[in-house]
Amino acid sequence: MKTIKDLNIDGKKVIIRCDFNVPIKDGKIVDDTRIKGALDTIKYCLDRDCKVILLSHLGRVKEKSDLKKNDLSLVAEKLASLLKQDVLFSEETRGEELEDTINSMDEGDVLLIQNTRYEDLDGKKESGNDPELGKYWASLGDVFINDAFGTIHRAHASNVGIATYLPSCVGLLVEKELNALKELDNPAHPFIVILGGAKVSDKIGVIENLVKKCDKILIGGGMAFTFLKAKGINIGKSLLDEENLDFCKNIMNKYPDKIVLPIDFAVTNEYTNNEKYRVEKEISNDEMGLDIGDESIKLFESSLKTASIVMWNGPLGVYEFSKYKKATDEILKYLTDNNIKTILGGGDIVAAASSFKNKIYHASTGGGATLEYLEGKKLPGLEIIK
Ligand code: AMP
Repeated sequence: MKTIKDLNIDGKKVIIRCDFNVPIKDGKIVDDTRIKGALDTIKYCLDRDCKVILLSHLGRVKEKSDLKKNDLSLVAEKLASLLKQDVLFSEETRGEELEDTINSMDEGDVLLIQNTRYEDLDGKKESGNDPELGKYWASLGDVFINDAFGTIHRAHASNVGIATYLPSCVGLLVEKELNALKELDNPAHPFIVILGGAKVSDKIGVIENLVKKCDKILIGGGMAFTFLKAKGINIGKSLLDEENLDFCKNIMNKYPDKIVLPIDFAVTNEYTNNEKYRVEKEISNDEMGLDIGDESIKLFESSLKTASIVMWNGPLGVYEFSKYKKATDEILKYLTDNNIKTILGGGDIVAAASSFKNKIYHASTGGGATLEYLEGKKLPGLEIIK
């Protein structure tokens, strides 16, 4: 993979595709992790006297009313305070004003262009990788650096489109993500996978690919109940992905020693944080499991004890409710207390692990991209650079 170190960027106009898709609430950025994640590559370019042109998407833009809430100008302000220098902002994603701004940039200047998805209002030009748009954006710079891991599994005008027309490479953040995930290509053993979250359907590709190379898959979260139901166990009102019962049955038949399921649960009658819950081995018809129980935590820990590397996607319970975050927190604590090399992939588990962040070996910034990598799929944003 061509990285930033393989290209001569000295003094050039570099276009960096960043992932500034940050959560915004009441007009404020509530988590700036993604902006901070882009700093290394931006600084690397500034140290080499580049004129730095940044592109990113923010949210989805389907109709005019989506424009204001997905305005990237807030990110320009935040970036300026993190970089401790002015950041120019272009309200337009194309046109004379934008071109004039770029022509007047000095070495060391940074410009952020408005949300690439503003172009989606006009026939999905960004998300549909409109060739004219990719070519136009490419015409604004000399070199293209893709540092947006979160969209690397998509062919958009602002990644694949631009890379089609310019010398291109990946940035330092994407390089770091790939180096971590590469450790799972030929993993050290025991390699243990933890899967949770809501739906089996989202994880089928990952299970099929990883079950062949891992030693065990520990399954928690809502998806565990479809596996349990496939074994004939009563799951009451717990989450069920009926369409995938056969998949669960087949994979357990094929790999009976590799799939580990929970043996007790935090059960309750209501899907809220208010109701009392009990830890039970059995779930009655009018109850549902919202977390895995203490014995299951012990069971999972016994599989993790000797792990050389762990890949974890999806929380083990409804972590948004403090009560049902217990198992996720305890396993995170076990992994970090015991210095077990752990890669977290996926928005929910990374969010759930925020208080463990500095102790985790790698927390991926791209949920969908990580899953597709783990499914063994080719990622269009990388293929074009290769
Ligand atoms: P995913 O996007 O598939 O990783 O799913 C994440 C979601 O799974 C989170 O919003 C959790 O609340 C949900 N989840 C985890 N465990 C359960 C459970 N036992 N029942 C229902 N939802 C769950």
